Amino acid sequence: MTQVYDHGGGVRSLQVPIPDNPLGHTLVYVVDTDRGPVLIDTGWDDPASWDTLAEGLTACGTSPEEIHGVVITHHHPDHHGLSGRVREASGAWIAMHEADGAIVRRARSTRPERWLTYMSAKLEAAGAPEDHLAPLRAARPRSVPGLAPALPDREIVPGELLALPGRRLRAIWTPGHTPGHVCLHLEEAHPGRLPGHGRLFSGDHLLPEITPHIGLYEDPDDATVTDPLGDYLDSLERVGRLAPAEVLPAHQHAFTDAASRVRELLTHHEDRLTGLLTLLTEPLTPWQLAERMEWNRPWAQIRYGSRNIAVSEAEAHLRRLVKLGRAEAVAGSEPVTYVAV
Ligand SMILES: [Zn+2]
Ligand SMILES: [Zn+2]
Repeated sequence: MTQVYDHGGGVRSLQVPIPDNPLGHTLVYVVDTDRGPVLIDTGWDDPASWDTLAEGLTACGTSPEEIHGVVITHHHPDHHGLSGRVREASGAWIAMHEADGAIVRRARSTRPERWLTYMSAKLEAAGAPEDHLAPLRAARPRSVPGLAPALPDREIVPGELLALPGRRLRAIWTPGHTPGHVCLHLEEAHPGRLPGHGRLFSGDHLLPEITPHIGLYEDPDDATVTDPLGDYLDSLERVGRLAPAEVLPAHQHAFTDAASRVRELLTHHEDRLTGLLTLLTEPLTPWQLAERMEWNRPWAQIRYGSRNIAVSEAEAHLRRLVKLGRAEAVAGSEPVTYVAV
């Protein structure tokens, strides 16, 4: 049985499982409109997850065939995975911010060998040791047909109301977790009369008990030096100012007092940046920094793929420190090392 929760005011959530993932599930929101139900995110592309989504919609008195539209908070597969199947079943439109739409187009058009070359060059530049790089260099690229993410057919424009008949749902651009992440502000009185301004569908941007991953925006064709952590911190302040009565996140559970959760996360990142400066009293490559940073388990127990994610997160923090003038690259070092200033 699909876990369905009625949040009131024509909003329900369905728990759609993410296979083999400690997060457990994605909360897919079903928002009633005058033209039929609209989904906020769709869940992981897996037969069991699809069945769970379909059963949950039936429990809500509707079905995949009746979906009017799909609004995607960001391109990650636990959010956008089933969008293509929903569109096939119903003819629904799929809306996404242009920056994440560009990532979907790139994922569909970039050959797998290009990704492998890019990833190994990037990790080598970050100071990854040879034993970490060897499997990447030996990997045989293969395309997996059918797994390409669905192209969106509508663009979510920051600050604008989405075309949802009978509802007021405004797009709030919150880059950081991905460059095109959006939160969606339901500008309607809270059905339980909680104090504050409407409700906020927060995707992965603001979660009650998890700090979302902030890495680099990976793009083999763009060498722009972005600052995703800086983007994320700005985006946090933006949603804190909205002061929603309730937050409806894409994982875990709904919560109130967005402002204090925002403060917690801002403090967490400030403390982490300060902690990194202590490590950077000696010059370190991004890889060495990642090895010394605090994770949810010792470095030796972190699996291969998660190490890549950890290095990306270390680099995002280095970018922020460099941008703040608190660290800098050591001239002539190769691979490049960074040191506190
Ligand atoms: Zn995500
Ligand atoms: Zn997620």
